[in-house]
Amino acid sequence: ELLVVGSANVDLVVETQRRPGAGETVLGGDTRVLPGGKGANTAVAAAKLGAGTALYGAVGSDEYGELLLDSLGEAGVDTSLVEMTYRPTGIAYITVTPDGENSILVSPGANNTVEPDRLTDALPGAKVLVASMEIPRATVERAVLDAAAAGVRTILNLSPVARVSGEALAALDILLVNEHEAKWLLDGGDDLTALLSLGPSAAVVTLGARGALVVESTGTTELEALRVEAVDTTGAGDAFAGALAAGLAREVGLVQAAREATWVSAYSVTRAGAQPSYPWATELREWSLL
Ligand code: ADP
Repeated sequence: ELLVVGSANVDLVVETQRRPGAGETVLGGDTRVLPGGKGANTAVAAAKLGAGTALYGAVGSDEYGELLLDSLGEAGVDTSLVEMTYRPTGIAYITVTPDGENSILVSPGANNTVEPDRLTDALPGAKVLVASMEIPRATVERAVLDAAAAGVRTILNLSPVARVSGEALAALDILLVNEHEAKWLLDGGDDLTALLSLGPSAAVVTLGARGALVVESTGTTELEALRVEAVDTTGAGDAFAGALAAGLAREVGLVQAAREATWVSAYSVTRAGAQPSYPWATELREWSLL
């Protein structure tokens, strides 16, 4: 019922005292290998909440591709629409310094081979489509247009932020961005209601520890974040996207789905990593949520 169109990457994370400059070699800590990528993260978040979820994407036929398929499978994501391609699995090379700052170099690899041609087979049966960037922009635009034409509810997590066609934005139900992405889309402006003039029926803006805003033509709803001790915010936005989509697939209203997404993403920041930090539905119930 939920179709996620997006990337799958392995995150290679190394801690270092300082970042190497040009021509320099620095010794860091041991490499941690973690499943990631915005599409895969979103799909895992939704599936762990119990939504019937498929990922539309691509990995390479290599050991990182296997790792991603395993992680998706363990969360209950249908991987039959994840193609195995001749290009290597996407990799994010991440260095983390003691101040907690990240520097990230992404090698998209197989993600650049995700074409829209298989969507015709994938869309029937879907209730909600959620797309994110890190795959070719034309594929994302086609996915939104085809889904809208098929009567499927559409969410675009426009991250990493980029210009997409006005046609796709006009066909979109929900534009999901964080506040930095919103600012970029508004050319530095901070009137978030102006996001609606880009075309979507509604916009949801995440505000980190301050929660989220739901912007609709009838008005804006503020949602406070849960107060938690943040350990690692990696993948919080993707957790939000997955939970928002899972809520809409259950046919709860947009504001309620966004509220649930603030719970799920708050939970995710209390634990390390992206996919492993996402709660199963039972864990949320232990927090007396959902
Ligand atoms: P991104 O990860 O895309 O930058 P945000 O930083 O806005 O996105 O985080 C997404 C969501 O995660 C927020 O809307 C909020 O619900 C939750 N979140 C992030 N950081 C915290 C935090 N420190 N405490 C509670 N919730 C948080």
